[in-house]
Amino acid sequence: MAWLIDGKEIAAQIKEELKKEAARCRKEGIEVTLAVIQAGEDPASGIYVSNKKKACEYIGIRSLSYNLPETAKEEELLSLIDKLNCDPAVNGILVQLPLPKHMNEERVLLAIDPKKDVDGFHPENVGALCIGQPGFVPCTPAGIIELLKRSGAGIAGKECVVIGRSNIVGKPAALLMLRENATVTIAHSKTKDLKELCRRADILIVAAGRPKMITKEYVKEGAIVIDVGIHRNAAGKLCGDVDFEDVSAVCGMITPVPGGVGPMTIAMLMHNCMASVKLLQ
Ligand code: NAD
Repeated sequence: MAWLIDGKEIAAQIKEELKKEAARCRKEGIEVTLAVIQAGEDPASGIYVSNKKKACEYIGIRSLSYNLPETAKEEELLSLIDKLNCDPAVNGILVQLPLPKHMNEERVLLAIDPKKDVDGFHPENVGALCIGQPGFVPCTPAGIIELLKRSGAGIAGKECVVIGRSNIVGKPAALLMLRENATVTIAHSKTKDLKELCRRADILIVAAGRPKMITKEYVKEGAIVIDVGIHRNAAGKLCGDVDFEDVSAVCGMITPVPGGVGPMTIAMLMHNCMASVKLLQ
């Protein structure tokens, strides 16, 4: 049976460390502030925003909330971002996605000052990640690296296969694994012989968005399996992209869903908020 990588526990450790750091900052008169913008009434976004605000409160980060109606013009959102970019009391700006359909996501994300872009989606931060310069790293992939490091899984020299090439998970996860000196292959929907490719992996990161697609036939004995997927079935039960029961019989380490990568995303967002203080100094 595989060793369980406990994302809940690791995320809790990170939050404790950040709480202490935030208290140290306050003693030095530095208050860390995150501005969270939600445009529209997407119910899932409402839950994500509320969880992010709760995490800020726990750590001691001040959060400012801005809610724009579904009918708001893109210009209104851009001028709010501009105002927050110029406000020296605001360290981080987060625009909750998805945006209402009439807004251009690319244009909106581009408007955020890269030094306040705690989601790490601005092209300047993406470029910095590509060439190994300091900058904000997207939270979910950053969480994957923390899970591996804090579980004692060595990364350097390992064969890593990342399934998925999205801008928010697959590509940055692959770049981060490369930065940690893994030998990295990115697989996607057009990849041939996926099973064979995955069976080479010492570390398999799955972000395909397909419930339980990865079974034991895709996994080398003793491999480390990181499941990024989140799906809810008709009965309301959560599962990932990996068939947990099947794969945990052959792999060496595995993240569960829920309780694996999920809790790390908010913990790393909080980490980015604290890091923003240094970037703005
Ligand atoms: P996406 O749909 O943008 O990208 C999926 C990628 O998987 C694509 O690049 C596609 O080419 C590839 N893919 C799809 N089917 C495939 C197949 N059969 N074989 C090989 N590759 C295939 O999704 P995303 O935004 O990267 O998210 C992936 C999953 O991770 C989703 O389930 C999402 O809900 C979850 N997610 C979780 C968190 C978290 O905090 N835990 C954060 C972001 C995303």
